[in-house]
Amino acid sequence: MLRKFCDDIPAADLQALCAKTYTSAVFRSEAITPVKTLEPGLHILELSNGPTLAFKDMAMQLLGNLFEYVLAKKNERINILGATSGDTGSSAEYALRGKRGVNVFMLSPLGKMSAFQTAQMFSLQDANIFNIAVRGVFDDCQDMVKAVNSDSAFKARQRIGAVNSINWARVAAQVVYYFRGYFAVTRSNDEAVAFAVPSGNFGNICAGHIARMMGLPIARLILATNENNVLDEFFRSGSYRVRPAGEVAQTSSPSMDISKASNFERFAFDLVGRDAAMVKRLWSKVDAGGAFNLAGTPYFANAKEFGFVSGSSTHADRLATIRRVYKDYGVMIDTHTADGLKVGLEQRQPGVPLICLETALPVKFAQTIREALGRDPDYPPGCESLESLPQRFAVMDADAAAVKAYIARHTGP
Ligand SMILES: *Cc1c(COP(=O)(O)O)cnc(C)c1O
Repeated sequence: MLRKFCDDIPAADLQALCAKTYTSAVFRSEAITPVKTLEPGLHILELSNGPTLAFKDMAMQLLGNLFEYVLAKKNERINILGATSGDTGSSAEYALRGKRGVNVFMLSPLGKMSAFQTAQMFSLQDANIFNIAVRGVFDDCQDMVKAVNSDSAFKARQRIGAVNSINWARVAAQVVYYFRGYFAVTRSNDEAVAFAVPSGNFGNICAGHIARMMGLPIARLILATNENNVLDEFFRSGSYRVRPAGEVAQTSSPSMDISKASNFERFAFDLVGRDAAMVKRLWSKVDAGGAFNLAGTPYFANAKEFGFVSGSSTHADRLATIRRVYKDYGVMIDTHTADGLKVGLEQRQPGVPLICLETALPVKFAQTIREALGRDPDYPPGCESLESLPQRFAVMDADAAAVKAYIARHTGP
């Protein structure tokens, strides 16, 4: 499937890279993405059995091997600079640790990540991984990355790169598991299924849209948000309104706390009939901090044609869903997956199998699990002692000059 998106790597090499990436040792399961059936017609597609226990590993692990392969071929080096509030940073570090030709400089807000997330990142002892804890909030980290990238001389000299959520290889790699999920729950190719997708930056569900455009019989793509409902608002009303930073709520499904959805532009291109000039007009409004409204246009009607429906949930919904799934099926789900399942069940159609994408394991969000169930989440084998391992990180003020000096000091001439 990846070959359809990647014609500049010989097929045998791509196959070898996939075989090296998707192993039962890394993903702790022979099936890599096993399906768990809660009841007939209701399934969870497990995507969180990789090293950081969240679905971002599915694409990022491949990206790490692609980077190493391409850099070796070109005899080049790259310094990845990123900012994270949790999942993206750790999955990038676990994908790139020990890879030849790559260093990772990852900024995170000092003391703001969960204990488990902090331990996951800061316990890495690989020489090419640099964790930088910034005295500030996530936006300060992101501003520092922007400031470094806007210094084009420094950027070129130090070979600064990124692995952010709009990375196309990440989206493409995610297409594959929609097919896997489909084949796991159907017997013949005239059956249609629905996918429920906990969504933030629209990367995961964008891959579902692409799978559908490739011909996979998807009846519905059910987009779920938390209280930060910029995407749900669009699919309900046609109005896309980016939130100012002060309007972004901190929720118990923090990986979906977004003000705008960076991959949404990709879908909008299809929505407006692949009219690039139209996308440009719409995004000039978005970039000016504004909004656009497609209500009443034929474009907005296309969203239904593409199978999209949506909904959102609250902290109370998450607690109720986690409790219900635990009580009825004996299965513990995390807060993000709970958002997906809640909205998925609201939009479920009789006779259409519903596949809810699991985007993280409960252990990453232990506090909410305790609130919902009155007990600790289970630790997957090998993660029990993570929080007591020695940690390795630098602390820095929210100052772009400081991070530039740090990078220069650690990359040599
Ligand atoms: C990143 C993330 C999401 C959101 O995925 P998008 O591709 O940004 O829509 C949902 N859940 C978890 C646990 C995540 O880490």
